[in-house]
Amino acid sequence: MWCLLFCTSIPLAVAGTPAGSRAHDPVPVLHCYAQRTRGSERVMLLLRRLGLAGAGRRRRPAARGLASGAPREAADAVVVGAGVVGLAVARALAMAGREVVVVEAAPSFGTGTSSRNSEVIHAGIYYPPRSLKASLCVRGKEMLYKYCAERGVAHKQLGKLIVATGAAETGKLDMLLRNAKQNGVNDLQLMEGSQAMEMEPELRCLKALLSPSTGIVDSHSFMLSLLGDAENLGTTISYNTAVIGGHVGYEGLELHICESKELQNHPGGSHASPQLVLLPKLLIDSAGLSAIPLAKRLYGLDQAFVPNPHYARGCYFTLSQTKSPFSHLIYPLPEDGGIGVHVTIDLNGLVRFGPDVEWLDGGEDPVSCFLNRFDYSVNPTRCSVFYPVVRKYFPNLKDGSLEPGYSGIRPKLSGPGQPPSDFVIQGQDIHGIPGLVNLFGIESPGLTSSLAIAEHIVSRYS
Ligand SMILES: Cc1cc2nc3c(=O)[nH]c(=O)nc-3n(C[C@H](O)[C@H](O)[C@H](O)COP(=O)(O)OP(=O)(O)OC[C@H]3O[C@@H](n4cnc5c(N)ncnc54)[C@H](O)[C@@H]3O)c2cc1C
Repeated sequence: MWCLLFCTSIPLAVAGTPAGSRAHDPVPVLHCYAQRTRGSERVMLLLRRLGLAGAGRRRRPAARGLASGAPREAADAVVVGAGVVGLAVARALAMAGREVVVVEAAPSFGTGTSSRNSEVIHAGIYYPPRSLKASLCVRGKEMLYKYCAERGVAHKQLGKLIVATGAAETGKLDMLLRNAKQNGVNDLQLMEGSQAMEMEPELRCLKALLSPSTGIVDSHSFMLSLLGDAENLGTTISYNTAVIGGHVGYEGLELHICESKELQNHPGGSHASPQLVLLPKLLIDSAGLSAIPLAKRLYGLDQAFVPNPHYARGCYFTLSQTKSPFSHLIYPLPEDGGIGVHVTIDLNGLVRFGPDVEWLDGGEDPVSCFLNRFDYSVNPTRCSVFYPVVRKYFPNLKDGSLEPGYSGIRPKLSGPGQPPSDFVIQGQDIHGIPGLVNLFGIESPGLTSSLAIAEHIVSRYS
């Protein structure tokens, strides 16, 4: 059974995922496809060496609880979740000499938040000084540009304008400028509206901040490349495989695993039985929207360290006209829960507006979370909110020119009206459990920060 369960799939592109539905730059895709093919040929051998693929599998007496009867296997490092952060962590651990298994509930990598975002390489302007978001974004940006240039991952350093459209907003640009400097972002330029409008004739604003180091990246090519690197270094990835919980026992960490399709038979969060128990020396919970629900099912982890999740959907609308009215990314000032309905341009020149902020009730049961059964639908009537907001800085936006695009959901640690929270990266130093690293609240700028998050984890916890 495990030969079938722990199999790798070889997607040519991530079909059906919003930000990935466009054509990729063929060079990195073909490059990574070749890497994945070689990697998948090695998978069975690696699994056998780890004892996961059937041959030589040992059965030890079950400890207690849910896992009784399931085969138990030792592993070195296990990463839960093959989003951009999980893949970056897997690659970095493999580069540090760890033997890595990535367990992913979906049939492919990057089908969660990592394919439902703006694909912007953030500069590090907004986040409180000395926060993880600030330091990891600034470091991650530098690492990401270098990585993309070296590996042929499509990206463009377009630059962005943060615009004040009302007199009451202009002081906020000064505050952002000061904040950015404290974060080590020293290249911002404050300019009069006239100067910004010369750069962007369709724009209307009173003042603007130009951020030259902001850019865009093809997130799917980036993830394919990370995956290829990790596999070439011996990482095994197991799709359609869900971690359903775990236990901190006498033997250390144990992770309860079953085929994702088994979960379908357990509606409403009722317990599925594990089909395999992994005993990792190092466990990284990088399950994105499910990281907190999963940590809540790690028995033995003091739940005082597990925050309550909050979810905020962000919808995008695309501009029907083919020629982009802007050459820079255009951002209004931040709003509660997000950084404002902004203009992003993808690598094919397609313009999208978003994301807005729509708080969800957060009542999803763990099984629905693990299977990514969130509601990603975009209600077409929400465009009535977009038109007036966008027209503040783009008055020529024509009626009927916005079309529903896609949505993503932010894994937040603070709710409506509360101050924004930082990334939470918890290791033994915080929760006391050797080998367990939890990643909570990895919302924006998680894509930009992914390589730096991985570096941080390897340097502290590996
Ligand atoms: C609307 C929006 C816009 C954004 N824009 C930007 C941006 O422009 N720039 C930027 O830097 N960041 C942006 N972000 C943030 C960025 O997208 C995320 O921080 C990043 O993608 C998080 O990656 P991840 O790997 O942590 O999570 P995910 O991509 O969600 O990956 C988690 C993976 O875990 C798997 N999983 C879940 N539960 C289980 C389980 N029990 N067992 C096994 N596998 C499991 C899931 O299937 C999924 O593949 C944005 C986010 C949103 C929502």
